[in-house]
Amino acid sequence: MRFIDLRSDTVTHPTPAMREAMYQAEVGDDVFGEDPTVRHLEEMAAERMGKEAALFVASGTMGNLVALLTHCGRGDEVIVGDRSHTFLFEQGGMAALGGITPRPIPNQPDGTLRLEDIQDAIRSENVHFPRTRLVCLENTHNMCNGAPLTAEYTASVAQLARAYGLRIHLDGARVFNAAAALNCAVRDLVRDVDSVMFCLSKGLCAPVGSMLCGSADFIYEARRARKVLGGGMRQVGILAAAGIVALEQMTERLAEDHARARRLAEGLAEIPGVRVGPVYTNIFYFWLNDEVSISPEDFVARLKSQGVLVLGREDGRYRVVTHYWITDEDVETTIRAVRTVISGQ
Ligand SMILES: *Cc1c(COP(=O)(O)O)cnc(C)c1O
Repeated sequence: MRFIDLRSDTVTHPTPAMREAMYQAEVGDDVFGEDPTVRHLEEMAAERMGKEAALFVASGTMGNLVALLTHCGRGDEVIVGDRSHTFLFEQGGMAALGGITPRPIPNQPDGTLRLEDIQDAIRSENVHFPRTRLVCLENTHNMCNGAPLTAEYTASVAQLARAYGLRIHLDGARVFNAAAALNCAVRDLVRDVDSVMFCLSKGLCAPVGSMLCGSADFIYEARRARKVLGGGMRQVGILAAAGIVALEQMTERLAEDHARARRLAEGLAEIPGVRVGPVYTNIFYFWLNDEVSISPEDFVARLKSQGVLVLGREDGRYRVVTHYWITDEDVETTIRAVRTVISGQ
């Protein structure tokens, strides 16, 4: 049985073009800087982001951690959103491995941090205090309804950060989705940040990998940080080859995923007992009203028996994510399946 897998865009399998490129990839020892396919991918990524250099890393988590270890030293503090992936879902790696303190401030429902809240969190020079080094933003914002941050907002945070001598890192796991949603070039969205990580392995369908981009000096240091984390890989052009296809073929089509997410949300919202959150990109959340007496475990299991996979969250929300392998027909099938499960409660 083929499942309609809406749990995440990380479930995307590589496309046939990616498998072919992986098979054909020219490779070398990348720790020696001799893998031409990795070098090509790193140049492409830097160019797309409008940065001097880029580094291929195994995952988004590794990319964010490498960035934090490169920007900050032990005892430094980082201002992060309290709903950010880096704060919630990366095992506190910055503290555990880097001796860096996260300073969480509230994420607004649209994924932004208030400028006043950032300013209030910046430490003054005082023997009691850690030193604030960095502000982290997330675009699109996973836990805040997949909302995109605009270039203007990012510029306003950058201006504030610079006034205090701070740097900015962007967790841009889905920054190409943000560009599609805002109908702008991705480089406009990252112009004002010092570093950006984006994932090849989510909506862009590559099997493995993320890119960290920034200045040449930053990437030189980041390469050292990646190595100490065990992330120096060898004939990794096999993986980078899929990343090249991702950048060449998969970024311009993301608006299709967004349109399907909107259609799915509309269909679900028409079902009595279902409430749907805002839809900005390819991720959205929905809830069941109290009159629907079905436990979250049951709901997920019954949908699964209808061939549909969604992610049930501890806070009672369900998450759905559209992606390359979800068709218009899958969207309609999913709406029917939710209707069937709820009416058969
Ligand atoms: C998925 C994700 C990451 C981490 O990427 P992995 O490749 O899963 O380690 C980081 N930030 C955000 C916003 C994500 O959605």
